[in-house]
Amino acid sequence: MSVLVQNCRTCGGRWFPARLMCPRCGGADLVPVSVERGVVEQLTHLGDVVIASVACDPEPLLVARLHGAVEPGDVVELTDDPGASGRPVAFVPPISLPREEMS
Ligand SMILES: [Zn+2]
Repeated sequence: MSVLVQNCRTCGGRWFPARLMCPRCGGADLVPVSVERGVVEQLTHLGDVVIASVACDPEPLLVARLHGAVEPGDVVELTDDPGASGRPVAFVPPISLPREEMS
């Protein structure tokens, strides 16, 4: 399981959601890369829904919906499959990129 984020080939910055240009260096050479896991930083409970900030190494910091029992500091797998279940995962909506950039 993984999610796609943008990687700036000029400065190495990683961004989510997708940007038209790198907010750090202004470069436009952004390519999708997959990130498989991150570390839970903060949890917010909204009824039965748990939203968390999940830090990838080294970035980006994602806002994700958590499935399963997870505590701050735990490593979770990232997925863009809303039906994922069975073990703790962090769901992040799929990145929106022009089709030609997805190949
Ligand atoms: Zn950059």
